Amino acid sequence: MLEDKNPQRTSLSELGEFGLINHITKHIKNQHKCTVRGVGDDAAVLAPSKMQTLITTDLLVEGIHFDLSYMPLKHLGYKSVMVNLSDVYAMNGETKQITVSIAVSNRFSLEAIEELYAGIQLACETYKVDLIGGDTTSSTKGILISVTAIGKAEKDTVVFRDGAKETDLIVVTGDLGAAYLGLQVLEREKQVFQVNPNNQPDLNDYTYLIERQLKPEARRDIPKLLKELKVTPSAMIDISDGLSSELMHICSQSKVGCKIYEDKIPLDPQVISACEEFDLDSTMVALSGGEDYELLFTISIDDYNKMKANPHFTVIGHITEERQGMKLITKANQELELKAQGWNALKE
Ligand code: ADP
Ligand code: MG
Repeated sequence: MLEDKNPQRTSLSELGEFGLINHITKHIKNQHKCTVRGVGDDAAVLAPSKMQTLITTDLLVEGIHFDLSYMPLKHLGYKSVMVNLSDVYAMNGETKQITVSIAVSNRFSLEAIEELYAGIQLACETYKVDLIGGDTTSSTKGILISVTAIGKAEKDTVVFRDGAKETDLIVVTGDLGAAYLGLQVLEREKQVFQVNPNNQPDLNDYTYLIERQLKPEARRDIPKLLKELKVTPSAMIDISDGLSSELMHICSQSKVGCKIYEDKIPLDPQVISACEEFDLDSTMVALSGGEDYELLFTISIDDYNKMKANPHFTVIGHITEERQGMKLITKANQELELKAQGWNALKE
């Protein structure tokens, strides 16, 4: 987990917009040669490249996408960058630059914004990206963050959602469902805290779940690994809304069906024990819980041997004809229709 310390409180109105921009951008250093000019001018300048350019944006709004009562600002900064990098990696690309725009109300202090930027900068260092610009403005209520990532991919190996073919294998990276359960644990602790603020939560049994919710890591390693293995997926997407919803995107855009096997879905032991405790079905959590930021992709069956022994990958099923629909084969060997529900459906 990231450390969060900053007892002081300097009001943003003391600094003004330019003071704030100067304060948060003065330490920024660029790591990449292709960043010709970063923060400080009317526009950033990037050197041309032979590769194709990827651009992706996400907007995160307080009260809709995050709750600051259990999301420390440093983690929020880190996660805002991760959600964008994850989209670039899902195209089988690499990110070199991001821009970050924020709108903040005067409820926030300079120290709070410093925490947010500490998380953004940690993400930039760890994932080797340059923060090359953004915009700063005020909001009447709450905080809003928009990150844009600029990435690159080879023309021949950029991967879309619409390339899955019948008989292709369906592969996921890592394990699923932990981030959603982390959120359940944090929400429960928030309610306990509201009833009794002196109650110190014991979160030792949930460290992995909470880390997955508060400090997700985008899979920068996967495009590199795929390149080493000489595998180009036929389709790929990142898992932000839950496995079934992402599968639906691949199937509908590729005009195919799929069959996945319940007993193949990769789950961490903490996911299994927390599901028992919360009386949730672990398959349902993996299918509909969001925010794992793993990658879901399809490969030709001819590539199976290149990846079958790799611990990062789990084959969970295969692509079928479109008219066969999307199916889940349960542990009891029943065939169920897969419904594309995001994590919102689980919440209700
Ligand atoms: P302009 O008036 O041209 O929009 P600004 O005064 O908003 O310029 O920004 C000055 C510089 O600081 C620009 O290079 C801009 O990209 C950068 N910048 C502004 N806000 C942020 C931010 N929140 N994060 C990173 N860079 C920022
Ligand atoms: Mg501006």
